[in-house]
Amino acid sequence: MSRSKALLWFRRDLRLADNPALLAMASQHNVVPIYIHSPEEEGAAAPGAASRWWLHHSLIALDHDLQTRGSRLILRQGSALATLQALCEETGATTVAWNRRYEPACVKRDEQLKTALREQGVQAHSFNSALLFEPWELSTTTGKPYTVFTPFWRACMAQTPRPQPQPAPKKLSAPTSWPHSVPIESLALKPRIAWDAGLARAWTPGEAGARKHLQSFIRKPLANYIEDRNRPDVAGTSRLSPHLHFGEIGPRQVFHAVEAPEVAGGPPRKQIEVYQSELGWREFAHHLLFHFPKTVSEPLNPAFAKFPWAKDKQALVAWQKGHTGYPLVDAGMRELWHTGFMHNRVRMVVASFLVKHLLLPWQSGAAWFWDTLVDADLANNTLGWQWTAGCGADASPFFRIFNPMLQSQKFDPHGHYIKAWLPELAKLPPAHLHKPWQAPAEALAQAKVVLGKTYPKPIVDHGFARERALSALSETKQAAAHTKARA
Ligand code: FAD
Repeated sequence: MSRSKALLWFRRDLRLADNPALLAMASQHNVVPIYIHSPEEEGAAAPGAASRWWLHHSLIALDHDLQTRGSRLILRQGSALATLQALCEETGATTVAWNRRYEPACVKRDEQLKTALREQGVQAHSFNSALLFEPWELSTTTGKPYTVFTPFWRACMAQTPRPQPQPAPKKLSAPTSWPHSVPIESLALKPRIAWDAGLARAWTPGEAGARKHLQSFIRKPLANYIEDRNRPDVAGTSRLSPHLHFGEIGPRQVFHAVEAPEVAGGPPRKQIEVYQSELGWREFAHHLLFHFPKTVSEPLNPAFAKFPWAKDKQALVAWQKGHTGYPLVDAGMRELWHTGFMHNRVRMVVASFLVKHLLLPWQSGAAWFWDTLVDADLANNTLGWQWTAGCGADASPFFRIFNPMLQSQKFDPHGHYIKAWLPELAKLPPAHLHKPWQAPAEALAQAKVVLGKTYPKPIVDHGFARERALSALSETKQAAAHTKARA
């Protein structure tokens, strides 16, 4: 008897291992794997330029992996519902399955789509591939969503049994004939002007690339994660974020894989737990996004709704291009432009600089990150920016203003990171690298640095910027207190 057919709708779960929707469908049906490009339905989660580059290569990798199991990936573009309906008609599929997404526009679209399919007699099933815990599974003792990380993660870690990853299906039964697939070029994901050489040098999108990255992280950096994770000059973190965002690897796989070497006398328990708690921040970000969807564009703390942000296009462009005159900030922004990535410590410094030194709205920074990061993720990016701007859940208070020179001295003491991204400062001794404007004329001349010509002078004075930010904060607090008193 021939098996029934099911559509497996890949979205941000571009892998075969630990993919619950795929596993469930493969055990019962002939599976037709599909990807539908429909960015207009994804609202703020529609991929930016760097993410589109990643997606292009990840889809190719997924198709290759499917082919090794006797299957393939069907590509389409347009309305997801209309495409799924058409594909059910064309293939005779009676079931559609996918793994859930949590971005507001996707949640809404998926709910409507599930109802519409079921009304037409098509079975529609969704699964969890992206998170350790569903956002609705955890709540405080008063039944509210968590807004503080520590109790959130404690509650997560108290859940037993911990969800285990599942292997990839060994074989995928293919339908007797395949529906039409559009060529990947027609999705126009790759940039028209080739600026992507740096991305290609830095990354290997796809499930195999993700697995390789994880294994090399476990072999070495994990053992010293706590000490090295703040050092942009050291390869001390896993760099799994784009792979996790696109679902080329899942958090269950990562969470359990880092525990394995412990059994074999590997890294101390504490290192493993701290790394796992970073996955916890990712979980927390998704919990917040799901329960507070407006935070994508609005501050969670309403007191910040009327913050007196500046309007300064020139300053924004200087920040985007890495021309602020503060070396750590500029190195970070150039790393981002060239590789689609930036170290977490540096993300915090550049974000703080934009919001507090330049007084520019965090939403402008989030938008630039969205377009340039290969790991741009609506949950993590929103959390990161609201945290830095002091207006989000469990945020760093606004009055804590990062000093970019001290951050640089502490976390890039020899200037290796700065020199890697700012070749114009490469000959400056480390003692002057963190604040070149204070370097003696002789040192600058020897290093062939002409401030204002070969490297910019600071676009804003640190002391002045600090005072201006604190007074803007106090103005905001007074306005909020006034509004509260009148309410
Ligand atoms: P590791 O240290 O190896 O951590 C492992 C994984 O844990 C990461 O891959 C990531 O999935 C998760 N993680 C780690 N730190 C955080 C965090 N603070 N918040 C949420 N998840 C975390 N991360 C993104 O994935 N996408 C974004 O768009 C994004 N935007 C950010 C914007 C700002 C302003 C800031 C301050 C942080 C942002 N982050 C974002 C979080 C963090 O910088 C990256 O996840 C991290 O740098 C990725 O490097 P890694 O994989 O080597 O991290």
